Amino acid sequence: MKFQAQHTPRSAEYAARATRVIPGGVNSPVRAYGSVGGTPRFFVSGSGATVTDADGNDYVDLVGQWGPALLGHAEPTVVAAVQEAAAHGLGFGASVPAEAELAEEIIARMPEVERVRMVSTGTEATMTAIRIARGATGRPLIIKFAGHYHGHSDGLLAAAGSGLATFSLPGSAGVTEATAGQTLVLPYNNLVAIADAFARHEGQIAAVITESAAANMGVLPPDPGFTEGLITLAHRNGALVITDEVLTGFRAGPSGYWGIERDTIPANVRPDLFTFGKVVGGGLPLAAIGGRAELMDLLAPLGPVYQGGTLSGNPIAVAAGLATLRGADTAAYERLAAAADALEIEVTRALGEAGVAHRVQRAGTLLSVLFGDFPVAPANYDQVLTQDTAKHRAFFHAMLAGGVNLPPSAFEAWFVSAAHNETAIARIAEALPAAARAAAAA
Ligand SMILES: *Cc1c(COP(=O)(O)O)cnc(C)c1O
Repeated sequence: MKFQAQHTPRSAEYAARATRVIPGGVNSPVRAYGSVGGTPRFFVSGSGATVTDADGNDYVDLVGQWGPALLGHAEPTVVAAVQEAAAHGLGFGASVPAEAELAEEIIARMPEVERVRMVSTGTEATMTAIRIARGATGRPLIIKFAGHYHGHSDGLLAAAGSGLATFSLPGSAGVTEATAGQTLVLPYNNLVAIADAFARHEGQIAAVITESAAANMGVLPPDPGFTEGLITLAHRNGALVITDEVLTGFRAGPSGYWGIERDTIPANVRPDLFTFGKVVGGGLPLAAIGGRAELMDLLAPLGPVYQGGTLSGNPIAVAAGLATLRGADTAAYERLAAAADALEIEVTRALGEAGVAHRVQRAGTLLSVLFGDFPVAPANYDQVLTQDTAKHRAFFHAMLAGGVNLPPSAFEAWFVSAAHNETAIARIAEALPAAARAAAAA
């Protein structure tokens, strides 16, 4: 199959129309193509590894709904589960049997998790985890790492990675100094900075929140020893550790990136709370907080930490999440890993042949491509921010013209799915040489 630069009059028309009634024409900023320019594509359908825009152009998709589409778009068992659930009612504002089944499915993959509370977005999950940590410790402060994204709750927007990196915002307007002042932002992969913060704020830090592998500033797994060191430091100082698996959970591997690191860390060194999202909702709005019973049972109605939601545990979202996790078997993870490996090989070859300095970053089945000179893996946000975004922009547009939908930001992970078979990888490989030459010329 050959590709030419697409005609996109319908996407352009929809974008113009949306811009008149929706701020920036989008309901989440990165969709506006702010850092790459051009006409944001409006999509009308997806199937397996492919998505189709409003003008009928189809693309091999590497956005994957920003993570949830683990099994591919419109995966038949997930669609059937959603249809079946919907036919029985869209929700009751009361518990449904499948909520416990989904909680059991999560617990089966995460031995550290004894209880699960479901919410609708990853933002709510991290916000709630922090409330539990403050409730449990009676302390006010939180440590987060620069470039890590934990959703858009006020206290977590400082130095928060992709969306903000793309738009060069220093955080966000509308967040009070009092709120921002309760978040200490530290460089990633720096245990000395963490030890120093605990010393300066003795008895004040409730929790350290960390992406299990950073994946919202490009993919940056923790350095060897970092996760163990941070948990040890936090616990020694009476603080909890919240491992944010919203993006990596059930995607980087069957039990997230923590599942990849778990066996390298002594058994008495474990995070206290986990947050899940994206894959766990199978493409519908569902996220979750999980942890030990003694912490999770601090939540209402058992304990004093309030949390609730009209749509929490919605039966259709629960059905999509359950079908996705049940479909994510060993064979599916093998297909995901094979697709990520093949993609890494093809990208490395094409960019290498065109002489484009770059570095492919991996965290399990997640990958991202940094443009620029990175002889060693970057360890933190400042280092990632040195990448050549002009090369990314040229590469992005040439890939789009070649029929591959990449994330429209240099600071995002690329998402393969279990449906990215050899045909899909071959189509990507076909688009790569021209895109690599475009990057070289930029
Ligand atoms: C996407 C993401 C969130 C926020 O989830 P939403 O559902 O967009 O609110 C939180 N943490 C991480 C690591 C994420 O990637």
